[in-house]
Amino acid sequence: MSRQRQVIGLVSATAAGAAARDRLAAAWPERTRVYEGPVGDAVRAAFAECGRLVCFLATGAVVRLVAPLLDDKRTDPGVVCVDEAGRFAVSLVGGHGGGANALAREVAAVLGAEPVVTTATDAVELPGLDTLGLPVEGDVAGVTRALLDGEPVVLRAEVAWPLPPLPVTPAAAGPSPVEEGPAGERPAGGSYTIRVTDRLIEGAQAAEGAGAGEREVVLRPPSLVVGVGASRGAPVEEVFGLVTAALREAGLSAASVAELATVDAKAEEPGIVAAAGRLGVPLVTYPAEELAGVEVPHPSDAPLAAVGTPSVAEAAALLRGGELLVPKRKSERADGRPARATCAVVRRPARGRLAVVGLGPGARDLVTPRATAELRRASVLVGLDQYVDQIRDLLRPGTRILESGLGAEEERARTAVEEARRGQAVALIGSGDAGVYAMASPALAEASDDIDVVGVPGVTAALAAGAILGAPLGHDHVSISLSDLHTPWEVIERRVRAAAEADLVVTFYNPRSRGRDWQLPKALAILAGHREPATPVGVVRNASRADESSRLTTLAALDPATVDMMTVVTVGNTATREIAGRMVTPRGYRWQETPR
Ligand code: SAH
Repeated sequence: MSRQRQVIGLVSATAAGAAARDRLAAAWPERTRVYEGPVGDAVRAAFAECGRLVCFLATGAVVRLVAPLLDDKRTDPGVVCVDEAGRFAVSLVGGHGGGANALAREVAAVLGAEPVVTTATDAVELPGLDTLGLPVEGDVAGVTRALLDGEPVVLRAEVAWPLPPLPVTPAAAGPSPVEEGPAGERPAGGSYTIRVTDRLIEGAQAAEGAGAGEREVVLRPPSLVVGVGASRGAPVEEVFGLVTAALREAGLSAASVAELATVDAKAEEPGIVAAAGRLGVPLVTYPAEELAGVEVPHPSDAPLAAVGTPSVAEAAALLRGGELLVPKRKSERADGRPARATCAVVRRPARGRLAVVGLGPGARDLVTPRATAELRRASVLVGLDQYVDQIRDLLRPGTRILESGLGAEEERARTAVEEARRGQAVALIGSGDAGVYAMASPALAEASDDIDVVGVPGVTAALAAGAILGAPLGHDHVSISLSDLHTPWEVIERRVRAAAEADLVVTFYNPRSRGRDWQLPKALAILAGHREPATPVGVVRNASRADESSRLTTLAALDPATVDMMTVVTVGNTATREIAGRMVTPRGYRWQETPR
């Protein structure tokens, strides 16, 4: 019986173990299979048949039983042990590749146990290089350890491809010890490397998986599309043999093949279907008319007659764009009879990713985990230098940093979009929320639909200040920027008036700078026309930063000269009160609903 990856085998010895086992089996009836009988036989059978195991046995017993069965950590099942009392779910082997770490956490959640995970990367909450979802070759343990130890690691991206979040070094306080080396160049002796390439590694001819040297990890991006054609009945050996020979001779890795592509009429052709299966990739098919519209270097009459397009292999490979690396080639048959298969290989363009990331008001613990993950993904970071400094230590190996000073917003937006269109994973950062008076809108105004755009919300200044002041935003509120650099003053004034008339709580952003000092007094005067002089006003400077300060005052008492560009000013509505030194705007239902 071959291994069924999705099945979790359960093995127990004692009555208590069996009880815990049954709870797990009841929680996951679809995913689990109980192995009974002598424990040794049960473990061996489960190990052979299942993707993962949970053994309700002592770790020592399980170590002795599985040790002779271990083969390769990329393919062995992950094994989790649960103790007799059901206190711990221990990830024993196959933490990453076997999925035991994740399983230990899941089992612990069901049984109310404590997950025990000892792999280094997880202990400090970093993903392992072998859990990124990309094929990986080489010295995974060595390079991961180097990252953990804060040793220099060079990222060499020979193919621009947005990568999942990479581990960063906890020891990397200050400048990142990881840098990007020029593509194609050998790193300086002794340093560790993460290489992103779809090329075979030289010197290791054809030996797939054994290519990467010591101190080097190779990540394989899914960058290659192989177009295939075959006449009816072409055997899998001929199709598969042609594809692998074409890749090998072009110096390309089969691990980077994303899909096989062909014409609809060949969707069920056994040799093609089986070749895709052997490569472990999906088979994508297109209508002949679509393929006929693709311009190819080697059209021919044979497929035109057979399936209605002058090219199958080249056209199917090129249909979604990209660079033709291997033009059409035919299979060779020992007996010299006509070829029954054709193929062509294309490097498809990477679909870039633009993440617009809000970093929050300043404090590290107000940067969201999602923002952190996006920063670790970024191959290119675009932002104001002051914000870049704030998060430099959160970046992953080799991120290119494009800092700039104040102003130049449109240029920053354009740069970010251009980099994404080149296939990079770009993080465009801003303080607070990147969509609030910040980079999101200029960037998305430039962005085309050939890139993915991801927004990560951040804690905007009005919210950070509100939390410091109390509960000033408890009822309807607006934010108004007093900067008339982008907006004519008449427009700003009209909005302030409307807010005053509508009795909205107002937070002023960009309230006052050296060259702009009359706008805030003017705006406050408009609000004072509709609110009592004693209306509470909160002034918060550098919310959540080291030199945070705040004060509560009133419309009549606020001295605008004490306000600067690091500040937001929140003016209460007619119901806002100061209660125990805090600014509180009642939600107002009762006030509205009580008949007068
Ligand atoms: N995108 C930012 C706002 C950019 S506009 C956000 O969502 O917060 C810049 C203005 O925001 C500053 O002039 C100031 O008024 C306000 N601001 C930003 N961060 C602040 C902080 N930590 N404390 C107080 N005000 C802040």
